[in-house]
Amino acid sequence: MSTEQPSKCCVCGEPTTKRCQACAKSGIDLFFCSPEHQKLVWKHHKEVCGPNAHTFRFPPLTQDEVEELLALENKPVTPDDAEDVSILIDRFPKVSADAFARFEAGSRQSRLGQMYEVSWSLPAGSFSAFVRSLAKHVPEEEYAAILALRELLRGHRARRYDSSLKGCPYNQLWTIFARFDSMPLVTTASSRPPDFDHSLGAHWLQLSRYRHQAVVLVSLALTRQFRAPAAVPTRFVLAAFEQAFACLNELKPFDDAAHAVEILCSVSEILHSAGLQQLGVYRDQAGKLVCTCVSA
Ligand SMILES: [Zn+2]
Ligand SMILES: [Zn+2]
Repeated sequence: MSTEQPSKCCVCGEPTTKRCQACAKSGIDLFFCSPEHQKLVWKHHKEVCGPNAHTFRFPPLTQDEVEELLALENKPVTPDDAEDVSILIDRFPKVSADAFARFEAGSRQSRLGQMYEVSWSLPAGSFSAFVRSLAKHVPEEEYAAILALRELLRGHRARRYDSSLKGCPYNQLWTIFARFDSMPLVTTASSRPPDFDHSLGAHWLQLSRYRHQAVVLVSLALTRQFRAPAAVPTRFVLAAFEQAFACLNELKPFDDAAHAVEILCSVSEILHSAGLQQLGVYRDQAGKLVCTCVSA
């Protein structure tokens, strides 16, 4: 581990100069104070570590995700599904009028597979082939589509297993992460001209950095909820949350405290399913926005 500028451990928030070496080679400084804290989130971090770290590459659909999506293909569209589509429209503020019309037309389709084909301009009848192709590799132009598919799964799992996801047999990391990545601040910040070389520039580094910190945060929350509650004290979740919050603010500054609270509420809703219910934000004496978190 190299020993240049110190920063905070992305798990516990303690100052450290140690970072993930594999990620550092891709230009991402992700600090871990100890091998123990690196191991705590390794189950999920390893999927985006090293060559996938920057620019951040979304992992392909898992076999479970593919099977669940294929099972949903012929399901009639419900108002909940249409709501999921409309949420996505809200979260892509720069979506074109054309894309907006497609989203709307999609929500009026009778079957879920058709709804997605229309929404994402896929040829009729190609839903299952499209889903299967994303199990191997996710081309960058399909990032929005894979997030939308994972949002679909997240909504269905939450309705099937209740919002706490207790008893849900599937790994939740990437479905929950999809919501983090579709927040308006992130989608606005990641809008760019098509010919922009995003391997360059501090902004794209910051976007990758935010995504890594969001993976750490969700991984900690899930470990606390489902795998090893004692291994993840509240202060770790708070430290990871504060850092994700700071990354978000750096990516695109919050307008004011009210705006930050609004964003926090949506984060709080996401983390609710991982057993974290109380998140708050306030301004400290220096006028800096500070967040708080207590477990349920
Ligand atoms: Zn640590
Ligand atoms: Zn790494």
